Amino acid sequence: MKAVVYKEPYNVAVEEVDDPRIEAPTDVVVRVTTAAICGSDLHMYEGRTGAAPGMVFGHENMGIVEEVGSGVVSVRPGDRVVLPFNVACGFCKNCLAGRTGFCLTVNPDFAGGAYGYVSMGPYRGGQAEYLRVPFADFNCLKLPPGNEHEDDFALLADIFPTGYHATELAQVSPGETVCVFGAGPVGLMAAYSALLRGASRVFVVDRVPSRLALAERIGAIPVDYTEGDAAIQIREHTGGEGADKGIDAVGYQATAAEGEEQPAVVLNTLVDAVRPTGMLGVVGLYVTQDPGAPSENAQRGDLLFAMGKLFEKGLRMGTGQADVKAYNRQLRDLIIAGRARPSFVVSHRIPLQRAPEAYRKFDRREEGWTKVLLKPRL
Ligand code: NAD
Ligand code: ZN
Repeated sequence: MKAVVYKEPYNVAVEEVDDPRIEAPTDVVVRVTTAAICGSDLHMYEGRTGAAPGMVFGHENMGIVEEVGSGVVSVRPGDRVVLPFNVACGFCKNCLAGRTGFCLTVNPDFAGGAYGYVSMGPYRGGQAEYLRVPFADFNCLKLPPGNEHEDDFALLADIFPTGYHATELAQVSPGETVCVFGAGPVGLMAAYSALLRGASRVFVVDRVPSRLALAERIGAIPVDYTEGDAAIQIREHTGGEGADKGIDAVGYQATAAEGEEQPAVVLNTLVDAVRPTGMLGVVGLYVTQDPGAPSENAQRGDLLFAMGKLFEKGLRMGTGQADVKAYNRQLRDLIIAGRARPSFVVSHRIPLQRAPEAYRKFDRREEGWTKVLLKPRL
């Protein structure tokens, strides 16, 4: 089958690889209909991790069940499913508590499991024609048959639940003001989720005009950080206090504003932008240095964080990979009921073959390249 294969930093190719097959009775194999490219893929693409050449990327996958293992009871060939990016067992302590982003069975170290992600288990990615899904009774979310809402449902694999998770970590409540750093797909989903939860005003900080325009389109207030310190701009909008809640959807991979030599640490700007006793949801990626990584950039995950400010302001902070399963059924049902349309972030629906061009453009945050869906059968 064809798949998106990592070659070297800034280079992926679409190549022929072995078809996946049922390896355990609890597996299914899915024929992929949509696989999205994520900001998280860019960490590997840019050579910031120890991703090995030949690795197949892709953790935002949906499709049709093609083949089921003998121990699978809840899905059948022909079922339409979306796969949470977390690969999880369903029976460890963390899964039982709903913390499927930290499954202890698939990855006892710390970070849970994921498809096509370095250091998150041996699971091949789904930017391909087919995907093997382990513990399939737990890791498939069934969808209505047909092809309605394909793009909305595809976003249930990661960014819609991840954006929602950010608002859960920050405990966003009706009437509150929220600032979101990053108007990438994840930040836009966090802003959208904050509005769904009844926030009164949501500020979205970025520098890419087309992304800020999307934030405005959903009813958020765009803040361009190249026009002055974002925390000061947000405090000005909130009577000097700062926003009630804050979300980091940028992570360690921040871009500097004009005139800045080094980008500011977004987390520190966020602490400045939120009012004392507020709460922060951090879903932007911060990683410890990967010993296999060739790039000095990898070290930026362990950055200088102003703990003193967090303490002085009495802020609380939640972090980590999203536990997609905790939200994706409910978010699916909002889509089915017509109350959520997350696909407003989708800018491109293109054949798998065009993945190399899409990676290049998405990585440069080129105007208009917000969220790319790869369609193996287009
Ligand atoms: P992305 O990386 O393109 O989004 C980041 C956005 O931040 C960009 O639009 C960029 O212009 C903006 N930005 C850069 N520097 C900034 C600064 N100093 N201030 C404000 N904005 C700035 O793509 P994405 O898919 O939205 O991913 C965002 C982050 O979320 C990535 O770190 C990704 O790895 C992470 N992520 C985490 C989870 C999770 O489960 N926690 C899931 C998916 C993605
Ligand atoms: Zn993702």
